[in-house]
This record gives sequence, structure tokens and C-alpha cells, in this order.
Amino acid sequence: MVELYLIDIIRDHLNFIKVNMTLSSMQHNVDLTQYNTMGFTAHAVNYLAIDADDDLAAFFQNNDLQQAHMDCFVLGGGSNLVLTRDVTGAVLHMRQRGIRIMDESSSHIRVAVAAGEVWHHWVMHCIERGWLGLENLALIPGSVGACPVQNIGAYGVEVKDTIDHVKAWDRAQHVWVHLSNAECGFAYRDSVFKKEWLIVSGQPQSRYIITEVVFKLLKDASQWRPKMAYGDVAAMATSLAGSESIQAKHVAQAIIAIRQSKLPDPAVLGNAGSFFKNPIVSVQQLERLKASFPTIPNYPQADASVKIAAGWLVEQAGYKGMRDGAVGVYEKQALVLVHHGGGQGRDLMALAQRISDGVFAKFAVRISPEPIVY
Ligand SMILES: Cc1cc2nc3c(=O)[nH]c(=O)nc-3n(C[C@H](O)[C@H](O)[C@H](O)COP(=O)(O)OP(=O)(O)OC[C@H]3O[C@@H](n4cnc5c(N)ncnc54)[C@H](O)[C@@H]3O)c2cc1C
Repeated sequence: MVELYLIDIIRDHLNFIKVNMTLSSMQHNVDLTQYNTMGFTAHAVNYLAIDADDDLAAFFQNNDLQQAHMDCFVLGGGSNLVLTRDVTGAVLHMRQRGIRIMDESSSHIRVAVAAGEVWHHWVMHCIERGWLGLENLALIPGSVGACPVQNIGAYGVEVKDTIDHVKAWDRAQHVWVHLSNAECGFAYRDSVFKKEWLIVSGQPQSRYIITEVVFKLLKDASQWRPKMAYGDVAAMATSLAGSESIQAKHVAQAIIAIRQSKLPDPAVLGNAGSFFKNPIVSVQQLERLKASFPTIPNYPQADASVKIAAGWLVEQAGYKGMRDGAVGVYEKQALVLVHHGGGQGRDLMALAQRISDGVFAKFAVRISPEPIVY
């Protein structure tokens, strides 16, 4: 009995120390320019680096902090983000590291990866070890924790096909949860993480904070088939493989080379990758469009709808390469909006609205932004 009492006291004491350490590591008025790939300047009134899951639990268990800073913004690599103003609550910067094998069979492996791991490093880690399935997603910027948020995708692959489950802090119930692949509600550039909101201090807040993603990857190379239907991937991977048969590393190398030739490096020119989502239209709408624009690129979907290429719409509407002060449209790829420096997120959003209106006026199709706008 006495022992149990002592254990309780020690546990409370440790929790008290942890919570107060969290309080003391909170920084104030932190410049976020280096934390977003668009390079827009905004400040975080409060900023907390989350280096372990316990930091997050301690943050939400602290009553003072809870009341003062419940308006939270979760930050990963800042590569899918347009900051238009200062963040008034707390920025929680996900920086946890760690890659842990959970279990494996002769054909598959399950690996848990901490939210703060760099996405591209994780992809290369898999390629070095012969874990297959992520090679088409090489060189996408950002963190592992953000990959389920918009179900990242590129070159015919979406990350949803490799996710077993996701560990997250549920802000609605104040508990840790494990969401199965089905519970994540994955769709094109979408998931439950973009749909379930809490309203805190009048601000919409994402319900879940992802701390770990568990992937299920193929190990048995005899079951692997390269996915190379998009663009020049097949030709480039074949040439890289030479006399060998094509392996995952060749597909990744081809995609890295193609991406480097087409997309601006955020370290050189601020951007958030593709700015507009490809709009989805009905077959009837497509037929009407084709009557006036017979070459419109379109991709039929499993549910009988059709995806059309937003970049083509923007280019045809005449915006490719245009510049308006500090912001503009990338000269080599109309889907990418860029920040030349010295501008503000508001300027970019005004340009995005102008482009969206211009596309609507020409095609009667509305395109909408992919990045999160704060
Ligand atoms: C040059 C370039 C190319 C790109 N190419 C692609 C591409 O091919 N395909 C593609 O899909 N995307 C692409 N992107 C977009 C971007 O890289 C991805 O969306 C990436 O997953 C964002 O990760 P991040 O860590 O930078 O997220 P952030 O920008 O930090 O955050 C994005 C959103 O996710 C939320 N979030 C971040 N981490 C967590 C977490 N741990 N838990 C809960 N919510 C979280 C944030 O609150 C925010 O709402 C590209 C971006 C750039 C700059």
C-alpha cells in the first residue's frame, strides 16, 4: 500500500518536471521564414519543438498552456504551406526521429517511422534496404508525419497504398489513437486529417496530430513490378539500368532526375510544389470541354469521374511564366506558383485567386489550392 502511494507520488513528480520542462522550452516570437519552403515571413507568438511523443502529451496536459495556447498549428517541413499572417497560438514543430522495424515475413515488412523524419531520407532508406513501394515518391519535400495528411502522390503512386496505420494524438478525446488505413479516409490529396476539425478560440484546428506512421512494404523483389507509366520514367529508368533488369533504385533515380529538371528547388526559388489540385469533372462535363478544347489532357478515374490537368488549364489561360511583383508562375511548369523574395503570402493568394478566376472564365472549371493556407 505504502509502495503504491510512493509510486503515485514519484509519477506525479516526474510529470510535473516534464510539464515544466515543456513550458521552459517554449520560445516566443519565432521567425518562421526558414520553416516554410515558400519563404514567406511570419512569426509564431509561441513555438515548441516536439522531439518526443511525451513532449506533445505534456503540452496538452498542462492546464495553463492548454488555456493560453490551445490554438495550435502543427508544422512539419513547411513545404505545403502558405503563411499569410503571424501564428497567434502555438506552433508545434514535429521533429521526432526514429525508424523501427515492427515485424516482417518473407514477403513484407512493417516499419514505424517517427513524424519528424525527412520524407526523402526515409524513401532512400527503404531503397538501400530493398523495401519496395515508395520509390515513385522520391524527392517529395517534407516530413513523414505530413505524408498521410494530403495522401502524397506522384508518378502514379499514392502513399495510402503503403500505410498500415497511423499513430496520432486525438485532440478531441485527449488520448493516443491508432487509425487503420481505412479509418484514415484516404482519397486524392485528401484524408481524415484534412477533414476532422475542432474549433478552438474561434480557429479551426486539425483534430489529429500524427506522431508516427507505420508502413507495410514489399520485401520479396520477385513480386515487385515497376510503375513507370508517367512521362519519361520508363525511358530514363531503362537507360539507367543498362544491361541489368530495372530495380527500385533505377525508378527512384529516374524520378529524382525528372523532378530536378522540372521543379524549382525551394532553397533557390520559394515554392510549395504543385499549387492547384487537378479538378475532377463528370464525363458529361469533359465531353462539353472536349468540344471546344479537343486536346485537353484527362485521366478517367475508377468512380467514372475524370481528372483533368490543372497545369494545362493554367497554361492555356495564359499564366505560365507570368510575374506580379514578388510572386509569379514558374516558367517551366504552370502548376507551380513561386515567390521571388520580399513578398507576402497574401500577394500569392491574390495571384492564385486571379488565376483560378481566369481558368474559370475560360473553361467553366474551378481549380483550388493544394497547400494549406494559414
Ligand atoms: C518542390 C515541391 C514538390 C512537391 N511535390 C509534391 C508531390 O509530388 N506530391 C505531393 O503530394 N506533394 C508534393 N509537394 C507538397 C509537400 O511536399 C507535401 O504535401 C508534404 O507531405 C508536406 O510535408 P511537410 O512536412 O512539409 O508539411 P507542412 O507543410 O509542414 O504541413 C502541411 C499540412 O500538414 C499538417 N501537418 C504537418 N505535419 C503534421 C503532423 N505530424 N500531424 C498532423 N498534421 C500535420 C500541417 O498542419 C499542415 O496543415 C511538393 C512540395 C514542394 C515544395
